[in-house]
Amino acid sequence: MTSSRGIDPTTLPCDVLVIGGGAAGVGAASAAGRAGARVVLLERYGFLGGLATTAQVGTICGLFLRDTTAAAATPVGGGFAQEFASRLQRDAGAKPLRVDAGLWVLPYPPPAFARAADAIVSESGNVNMVLHATVAEARAEGRCLVQVRALAWNEPLLVRPSTVVDCTGEATAAALAGAAVENGATDQAPALVFVLENVDPGLAERGLIEVRRELRRAVESGSLPALCERLSLVPGTGRNGRLALKLSLAPANPDLPLWQQVTAWEREARSLVAQLHRFLIEKVAPCRNARLDSVAPQLGVRSGRRLQGRARLADEDVLGARKSPLGVARGCWAMERWGNSPRPEMTYFNERDYYDIPLDCLRAAELDNVLVAGRCLSAAAGAMTSARVIGTALATGWAAGTAAAFQALGQPLDDAVAAIRQQLIL
Ligand SMILES: Cc1cc2nc3c(=O)[nH]c(=O)nc-3n(C[C@H](O)[C@H](O)[C@H](O)COP(=O)(O)OP(=O)(O)OC[C@H]3O[C@@H](n4cnc5c(N)ncnc54)[C@H](O)[C@@H]3O)c2cc1C
Repeated sequence: MTSSRGIDPTTLPCDVLVIGGGAAGVGAASAAGRAGARVVLLERYGFLGGLATTAQVGTICGLFLRDTTAAAATPVGGGFAQEFASRLQRDAGAKPLRVDAGLWVLPYPPPAFARAADAIVSESGNVNMVLHATVAEARAEGRCLVQVRALAWNEPLLVRPSTVVDCTGEATAAALAGAAVENGATDQAPALVFVLENVDPGLAERGLIEVRRELRRAVESGSLPALCERLSLVPGTGRNGRLALKLSLAPANPDLPLWQQVTAWEREARSLVAQLHRFLIEKVAPCRNARLDSVAPQLGVRSGRRLQGRARLADEDVLGARKSPLGVARGCWAMERWGNSPRPEMTYFNERDYYDIPLDCLRAAELDNVLVAGRCLSAAAGAMTSARVIGTALATGWAAGTAAAFQALGQPLDDAVAAIRQQLIL
């Protein structure tokens, strides 16, 4: 046993610091590592994937063009998102599936996503991945973010990076360093995913019809809270009697700080899932023997703080499938807003088309060495309901990581844009 007084921080050598190991962070760290930069990736949980694994969302959207007629899924472009998807298909036997209105998704088991993310980041080289590392301080001098402090398994870390890619889902590092951000917490409703086993496989095929009927009755008679009707199926589940369900809550109360709101949501959702499980066993015959196999370790918060960038992705950019000469990622998912009704509001753009996300939507307006990706993107509320999906987050992460590495290594950003655009061509 050794004893000491206090804990000195460990300083990590770093060109590109990636904060957050969700879909966007996995793309960013892989890109920067492959471009030859020394990368540090800090992730607050003990595994990668972000909402794709912690909230167990279960399907990747944004990989394939919307198409109501084609027999097979058409990738929206080349590049890292497709590489990641191919790996999941190979390792976990995942297969694209057409859902509503010609939208295609790739269902996946969450543990397989975490394994694929870990492997792909590790194989990229040059990445020092630190798990259980939570960033709590970021300091800027003038127009540069110069220092970040984190606690990794309760030990202090210090990083002084050349460039930073904020992939926290909440633009946390950018905001801590003083960058302008927008609070989107009230834009969309959160949801908790849970898995039931031993359910009659026919229930999913019938679109949960018996569940919906009984829930309606129970809510009307006052025996279940109205929120229980906001239950939906995670596509691609239900075979072998294993059903993943999503329970949506009400959007955030604008008068509560988000940390307080999230605590209230987590407690409410977990209590509702317990009530729903009991109800399904008692009232819905195909669920008579249902076992509650798991509840996602984290509530899925769809929308949070996002950056004010040098450009802002507008709703019209998405709906008009606009292209840009500075486009570094392609979005192809419809606008999908989860508000107060049980089903999402969907707004579609043309089939077999996509929109571009310009690099300036990933660059902080006021901090020259900070980029963002995924849910931190600079976007209007409607545009974000499309651009936040996992396939697009992988792609914006890759773009931001490439640009951050070029900048850290003293290469022109125009060259980064050209390299990324080349990869997107199929
Ligand atoms: C209920 C729900 C259902 C959804 N369904 C789908 C779907 O079916 N298909 C789809 O494609 N998309 C879906 N989405 C959207 C999609 O899951 C997310 O938008 C996407 O995963 C975001 O990726 P990201 O990397 O930007 O952020 P996140 O996944 O949120 O990743 C952020 C990462 O940063 C880490 N982090 C945060 N703060 C810190 C810090 N201070 N220090 C260190 N690390 C930190 C987090 O732990 C996390 O790993 C859904 C979302 C929700 C909530």
